[in-house]
Amino acid sequence: MIAIILLGPPGAGKGTLAEEIKTAFHIPHISTGSIFREAAAGKTPLGEQVRSILASGGLVPDELTIALVRDRLKQGDTERGYILDGFPRTLPQAEALEGFARPGAVINLCLPEEEVTARLSGRRTCPACGEIFHVRHRPSRKEGLCDRCGAGLTIRPDDEEGAIKNRLRVYRTQTAVLEGFYRERGLCHDLDCHRPPAEIWKELKPFLQGLEADPPPSSSI
Ligand code: AMP
Repeated sequence: MIAIILLGPPGAGKGTLAEEIKTAFHIPHISTGSIFREAAAGKTPLGEQVRSILASGGLVPDELTIALVRDRLKQGDTERGYILDGFPRTLPQAEALEGFARPGAVINLCLPEEEVTARLSGRRTCPACGEIFHVRHRPSRKEGLCDRCGAGLTIRPDDEEGAIKNRLRVYRTQTAVLEGFYRERGLCHDLDCHRPPAEIWKELKPFLQGLEADPPPSSSI
């Protein structure tokens, strides 16, 4: 069973990698960022609550985020595994997760901070289908338009310069500690992401196949 967490700074490539894993292993990609962005685009109470937090690059309160992930993991499609992308992001979230799910590995995406900033400022996102592009690393075929659905590409509000700085500060002060948390538990698998995607995949795929061969923990919650 492949039940994994993708850990790493914003811009390290968690979303792109998660989509690749989802396609190869047929397990759901659960991105708290995508869930919040979708909510922020609508008129629901959750949307109202998270809109300004997202634009600033700050974090949505733990209690709300934990409840959302707990509910999502109860859905039937997670029985064969799941990819958590962007959760947990704080120590209280990681501690809470231990109470309701037991991931088999934490993939720690390693990338120098200058590269993280360069990647975030060049990122372009399709507001219609969620596809991610990059002006340098993954340009769309027609400039400014999504390859998959043709919609106009946008810069996420939290990829604007001020928000990027804030997100990196939040990562350093609140999320980076999780690396040690999972290392202590023997779950942390470092993945050098400062190299071409094909090389990253060549290392990651057999690792995931190894996890797939393992049965789910008998005491799974
Ligand atoms: P991401 O797409 O993962 O970079 O997330 C985008 C934004 O959603 C973050 O900057 C936060 O405002 C919010 N967010 C995503 N995941 C979490 C989380 N686990 N805890 C709190 N806020 C989150």
